[in-house]
Amino acid sequence: MNWTVPPRLQHFIGGAWVDSCDGEMFADLNPATGQVLTHVAAGGAAEVEDAVRAAAAAFRAGPWAQRGGAYRAPFLERIAELMLAHADELAWLETLDTGIPIRQTRGQIARAAENFRFFAQRAREMTGATYPVPGRFLNYSVRQPVGVAGLITPWNTPLMLESWKLAPCLAAGDPLVLKPAEWSPLTADRLAHLIEEAELPGGVFNMVHGFGETAGASLVAHPDVRLISFTGETSTGRTIMASGAATLKRFSMELGGKSPVLVFDDADVGRAVDAALFGMFTLNGERCTAGSRLLVQEGAAARVIPELVRRAGRIRVGDPFDEATDLGPLIHPEHWDRVMSYVALAPQEGARVAVGGRRPPHLPEGSYLEATVLTEVRPEMRVAREEIFGPVLAVMTFASEADGLAMANDVDYGLAAYVWTSDLTRAHRVADRVEAGMVWVNSHNVRDLRTPFGGSKMSGIGREGGDLSFDFYTDWKSVQVALAPADIPRLGSSGSV
Ligand code: NAD
Repeated sequence: MNWTVPPRLQHFIGGAWVDSCDGEMFADLNPATGQVLTHVAAGGAAEVEDAVRAAAAAFRAGPWAQRGGAYRAPFLERIAELMLAHADELAWLETLDTGIPIRQTRGQIARAAENFRFFAQRAREMTGATYPVPGRFLNYSVRQPVGVAGLITPWNTPLMLESWKLAPCLAAGDPLVLKPAEWSPLTADRLAHLIEEAELPGGVFNMVHGFGETAGASLVAHPDVRLISFTGETSTGRTIMASGAATLKRFSMELGGKSPVLVFDDADVGRAVDAALFGMFTLNGERCTAGSRLLVQEGAAARVIPELVRRAGRIRVGDPFDEATDLGPLIHPEHWDRVMSYVALAPQEGARVAVGGRRPPHLPEGSYLEATVLTEVRPEMRVAREEIFGPVLAVMTFASEADGLAMANDVDYGLAAYVWTSDLTRAHRVADRVEAGMVWVNSHNVRDLRTPFGGSKMSGIGREGGDLSFDFYTDWKSVQVALAPADIPRLGSSGSV
């Protein structure tokens, strides 16, 4: 292994690597040690202005937007190839920067590359529609790129989430400015170098690092940015929509979650416990679709809860580069404090910390936290309602199916839901009534890239995935062609109307 972390990360604007004009930098920390990994250029309004100008010029003049999907597809395939050729390095950087165990980041990098391949294929297949109006008109509709897109991404699984936005945006023909999360910029930097190697036309891909309140906010406010695709916290989404309203932007919002796992008496409880532990404690609990509320029917509680607590206590917390590690450090000391504030709140609200809740004694440095299970939780508690976004699972019990559903739906969020039952009709009934954008029945979280992805209620607006992504990144244009002289009223002529 001979990879290194660059000593400084720069913006990529109009095909050139540049610092911020005022020279401002910020530190990027290693979550496992708290040490500084590198320094990153802190962009603001000036860098966003340059990047948007480069993207707008590429939109107006270059081939990217004007030519079709078949032209763009090979560039995306090239990016995917380069990512796969550098997969081990990307996984190494991602683990170093986020603390996600290396076994898990490897899978994420492969999936991120797959996103580029998938949308290359969709770009080739992108098609329009024709509407013959017999004897009078031939109408046809085509998808066209919208304009400059601003892509704003969070720190959890950064490369994967960047690929979800970049691949369909590029496939659709929109030049863009990416604003990666400030706590995990390393793989965005490496990916930008690979994109440079793929030789996209100048100005199509731009990246400005920096904080949300400066770089992110400038991108949202910029009048020449037509689209904002945002993934992050619900409260940030609200701020962004308010400030983007002035320039009437189109938004895709992938926001927070507090997703329920409903385990009914008749479930295969062994598999349900496996999936509940996987869904909560992989990716360090920093997963938007984490099943962070486990709702167990009373008849299954004695079989589920003690086993879940026992197994959670055996989850291996440690060095994310150790192949045996299940749970690495949280992203940042500030986030550790936030997650721990919920762990401290739980007993004050009347819940019990059944396992975990501490920094593991053998890991005095870094943002480590044991896998934590809260029992005796009631639906009105904050630990049952608010997104904690760490390895903290809230467990509740319910009596009837109606009670379970009411409890599942009694939060502001509606991203994902997981249903465990062997009753086929109940599975469909609950899937129908649970308030969530995505439901998994007798399964953990696996996703086919064609399937709509997104949340209901406060978890988001719009859906990504497959052609739905093109609905966001393209505009329909309809063209009406007269096939015969149309009967046009002749205003102002002598025999008018
Ligand atoms: P965050 O909202 O703090 O930040 C996300 C991004 O927005 C960052 O790049 C940040 O710099 C930027 N930002 C912050 N304030 C901004 C502003 N005023 N204007 C423009 N940009 C701004 O979120 P986070 O803490 O990085 O990520 C965790 C959150 O993301 C969780 O709530 C999680 O559920 C959510 N998430 C959702 C999905 C999904 O698909 N629904 C996926 C992953 C993460």
